[in-house]
Amino acid sequence: MKPAADKIAALLQSPEEEVLINLLNRAQQCRRENIGNTVYLRGLIEFSNYCDLNCLYCGLRKNNYQISRYHLTLEQVVDIARQAYQNGFHSLALQSGQVNTSAEFRFILDAVKAIKDFSSQEVNGSLGITLSVGELSYQQYKTLWEAGAHRYLLRIETSDPVLFNRIHPSGQRFSKRLECLDSLKDIGYQVGTGVMIGLPGQTYESLAEDLLFFEERDIDMLGMGPYIIHPGTPLAKIDEYYINDPYITTLKMMALARLLMPDINMVASTALQTIHPAGLTMGLKAGANIVMPVLTPGENRSDYSIYANKVYKDLQKISQEIEQSGNRLALWQWGDSRHYYRRLNLPYPDQSSLLSHEVAD
Ligand code: SF4
Repeated sequence: MKPAADKIAALLQSPEEEVLINLLNRAQQCRRENIGNTVYLRGLIEFSNYCDLNCLYCGLRKNNYQISRYHLTLEQVVDIARQAYQNGFHSLALQSGQVNTSAEFRFILDAVKAIKDFSSQEVNGSLGITLSVGELSYQQYKTLWEAGAHRYLLRIETSDPVLFNRIHPSGQRFSKRLECLDSLKDIGYQVGTGVMIGLPGQTYESLAEDLLFFEERDIDMLGMGPYIIHPGTPLAKIDEYYINDPYITTLKMMALARLLMPDINMVASTALQTIHPAGLTMGLKAGANIVMPVLTPGENRSDYSIYANKVYKDLQKISQEIEQSGNRLALWQWGDSRHYYRRLNLPYPDQSSLLSHEVAD
């Protein structure tokens, strides 16, 4: 293990409250100095819970027959986007399981185009679009980029290839995920990734390596959450835990990520808010600057069950918690990653007047 990883692992493992408080204070200060106290929204539309894969930890896995499968129509997605726009959202995240049919790719492409079409006519400019629809080909990523998507989230779940193979079926390759991340960066996306914290078989050393992996890969966006068991999955049966407190460890991971990568965008994940009622407030303290309120229709929300008992908060509640934590919620602003512009040597544009993503063309 690299010396830096050694030190990080020791901080993660320390039971001292003082270590946690110190990390949170430093992360808050670092965030204030580098990206301010503004919090940006990504309205999350989980448009389909169909998935062709069988990740061992995920409730959406193909072989889980306990959930009802749904797929929103294009009209539903656009209606949600329109309503979100009226409510002050200026960025959306479209998410689904991994489906590799050409019809599904066409649906995603049509959704991106339709959202860009209507929103570019609006007075506040077009909606920013983040996609999180899994591993696609270079050409597919490029087509979606050309249609107007400009951020992409593809979590690696762990940077340890051995652990990756333990939590995924043999058909899924760690190297493929890395190839996809490379493609996304090459095309010009703001690239996000992330890991779960507290997985069976995961160690503090492995988490420390995850942080160094993000830094080495020069990522623009980060999403990390505690591993929450889904009882209908094979991983739920494995009881081999080395991480004592996934909630506290997640907060430490976030604080350390902020210190290592001061100007990236980092989300206070729904999993963090699910595992603890103070998850959002504490996530912001740990350096997060992005929140992703779920906009999926009420009747479908519980079927997007990657993990159990996912919490739901409306925009009003989220706004209150953001304001109470001493941060400022930004409405009708894209909130792009400052790191992205810095790595491309470009000036950071005014986030309230972005019309498209020509910057990196
Ligand atoms: S993690 Fe993603 S790809 Fe894996 S089973 Fe769940 S939805 Fe499918």
